[in-house]
Amino acid sequence: MLLAAVAWACSAASPLQVGQVELTFLDVGQGDAILIRSPEGKLALVDAGRAFPAEALQRHGVGDLDLVVATHPHADHIGGMAGVLRALTPRFYLDNGVPHTTSTYAFVMAYLQQSDITYLQATDRSLALGSVTLRILSPPAQAESLNDQSVGIVVEYGEFRALLTGDAETTELEHFLRLGLPDVTVLKASHHGARDGVSPEWLATTRPEIVVVSCGRENAYGHPDAEALELYQAAAQAVYRTDLHSDVTIRGARDGSFRIETGRPAASAGERTVRLAPGQVSVWVAPEDPVERAVVRNHGAESLAVGGWVLCDAVRHCFRFPDTATIPPDDSVIVFSGAGTSDGRRYYMGAPQPVWNDGGDWAIIWDTRGQVVARYEY
Ligand SMILES: [Zn+2]
Repeated sequence: MLLAAVAWACSAASPLQVGQVELTFLDVGQGDAILIRSPEGKLALVDAGRAFPAEALQRHGVGDLDLVVATHPHADHIGGMAGVLRALTPRFYLDNGVPHTTSTYAFVMAYLQQSDITYLQATDRSLALGSVTLRILSPPAQAESLNDQSVGIVVEYGEFRALLTGDAETTELEHFLRLGLPDVTVLKASHHGARDGVSPEWLATTRPEIVVVSCGRENAYGHPDAEALELYQAAAQAVYRTDLHSDVTIRGARDGSFRIETGRPAASAGERTVRLAPGQVSVWVAPEDPVERAVVRNHGAESLAVGGWVLCDAVRHCFRFPDTATIPPDDSVIVFSGAGTSDGRRYYMGAPQPVWNDGGDWAIIWDTRGQVVARYEY
C-alpha cells in the first residue's frame, strides 16, 4: 500500500526536467536525510534521520531506492534506517564500516545480514547513479570520534557538484582536503552547521555557491552555530536551512546551473524577497528591567513582514515570529521573555527563566533565508 501511494505522489509532486540531477535535503528535524535523484530516476538516500522519514519520502515520490548510505552510525543519521531498508528495499547499502555499540546499529546490521541488500564499505571509489557520479570519500582509519569517520560524497553531474560530509568535524575535513576536493555548487554544512564543521580553508577550497544546513527547529545543540553561519554567508550566495525552509530541493544541470525550491510555502518561508537596507532593522535588549524584553525596530518607511524571522540569544534561546507578523513603518515591536498573549505589537517568548544575561549577551535576528538582519551585543 505504501508503495502505491508513493508512486502516485511522485507524478503529482515532483516534476523533474530531463537532464537534471535533483538533491533534496529532507526536513527530518534534528538529523540528516538527503535524497539524490539521477536524470534517469535512480535514487540514493544519504542518511535516514532519527526516525523513518516516511512522510518526507512520500512527498518526493520515493517508491524504492537503488542505494542507501549511512555516513556514520549516530542515531540522528541511522535512527530511521531500519524502516528505510524494510520499506524501500535498496539494492546497495554503504557505510563507514565502523561498528557502534547501540541497539539501533545492531538492528540495522542484523536486518542487512538476512536481506538481499548488497553491503558496500566506503573505500575511495566512484559509484554510478545513472549518469550521476558519486565519488565516495573514505574516512580516516583512526579518529577520536564517530563524527570524524563520516563517509564523504561528492555528487557530480557535469559542472554541477555537491559535497556531503555527514557530521565530519575539522579533523576529518582536513583529511578530505588532503584527498583533493573540487569546488562545488552545493555544500551541505557539515555537522548540522556546528562551528567544528567548517573552517576558512574548507570554504576556500570548496567555494560553495549554496550552503544547506540540515537541523531541527530550536534544537538543543544550538545548531547552526552563529559564527559558522556567518562564515557560510560570507562564502556563499545563499544559505538554506531545513529548520526554516523545510525540504530544500536543488535541481542541477550539466552546465552547473541550478534551481532551488523549498518546502515551506512562500507565506511562511519568505520566498517573497524582502530587500533590506543596511541598518533597516535593529534590535536592543533591556536585560535588567523587571520585565525583561527585546525591542525590534523597523527604521524603514514601509511596513515590514517579519513572519518566520527568529530572534535568539547567544546560547540559542529563540523566538520565532508568527507567520503573519509585521512591524509598522518607523515603529517597534516588543518581545518579552516571559509568558503572555501576543497582540501583534507585543510578543512573548514564554521562557520560564530570564533569557538575556545581565552581564552581557547577544541578540541576533535571522530572516527566513537564514541571513542575519540585526544584531545587538552588550
Ligand atoms: Zn548528526
